[in-house]
Amino acid sequence: MLLVIALGGNAILRKKDKPDIATQFRNTARAMRHITPLAKKFSLVITHGNGPQVGAILLRSEAAKKQAYELPLHSAVAQSQGEMGYMIQQCLENELRRKGIRKSVSTVLTQVVVSKNDPAFRNPTKPVGPYYTRLQAMLLRGKGFVIAKDVHGGYRRVVASPRPKEIVEASAINKLVKSGVIAIACGGGGIPVYRPGNELKGIDAVIDKDLASALLAKQISADIMMILTDVPKVAINYGKPGQRFLNKITAKKARQYMEEGHFPAGSMGPKISAAINFLSSGGKKVIITKPELAEKALKGAAGTTIMR
Ligand code: ADP
Ligand code: MG
Repeated sequence: MLLVIALGGNAILRKKDKPDIATQFRNTARAMRHITPLAKKFSLVITHGNGPQVGAILLRSEAAKKQAYELPLHSAVAQSQGEMGYMIQQCLENELRRKGIRKSVSTVLTQVVVSKNDPAFRNPTKPVGPYYTRLQAMLLRGKGFVIAKDVHGGYRRVVASPRPKEIVEASAINKLVKSGVIAIACGGGGIPVYRPGNELKGIDAVIDKDLASALLAKQISADIMMILTDVPKVAINYGKPGQRFLNKITAKKARQYMEEGHFPAGSMGPKISAAINFLSSGGKKVIITKPELAEKALKGAAGTTIMR
């Protein structure tokens, strides 16, 4: 049985946390304590978000641009996959050893193909990197960047969030998994690339990690996808009167709730879309819950399960 686990940004860095490396290692180690027991029964692929980390990489690049070369966003995503892959890999290896499970772990730098004609490129919405003043925003606009006023005040660069079309390294990941290796892949939704002619080329965009994870799960014929975030279950009327947590629903019901507007675009929406995509392309089951409840949820005793 092959299980793809998509780890939310919150499992590694919560909003209230000091965003340093020690804190991230501590949180990652905690998440791995919950995930490691699953390695006894399942083949595993772990994917993860990278919001705060890629933001910090872009900030460094910008602040140091007089001394060191600047990084385009696609290279920054690649860097975040290295930084975070290293951390997850080490925490997982330590935990496997502690539990006496003999499995090796390997991070795969993952490129994800998008279309240059994706409508998202005409309407960039995803904020990335540093906050700017009005004057800086004007200068950057002059250089061709799309800068928008941020909800938290100030200005930020916004980039497209195009739909993932193909995971370039899917076959490499599949081979690792088949030989018993736990793969860490698709970090931050993958390094965005497109195909001019027959080549691959990086492009500045941010791919949703849940949608990329569902596509990877499909391409490697995973059985189950698990989305680990900071809520125990999915709810309808979330945070409103009439809120009701869901235990088990069909993909059809999930689609209906989605159409009724229960799952917002920036958070639960992509997770439900990812679940529906995976189930309609051969996946058996999707579970959405917190890392602490992962083991229980696989037994059907926690979390929200979405079935075909
Ligand atoms: P991650 O970093 O794990 O991808 P997100 O912040 O993108 O996390 O999404 C998880 C968040 O979605 C939860 O913290 C919760 O506040 C929010 N959310 C929005 N709608 C719902 C819903 N209908 N049911 C449960 N959580 C929801
Ligand atoms: Mg998210």
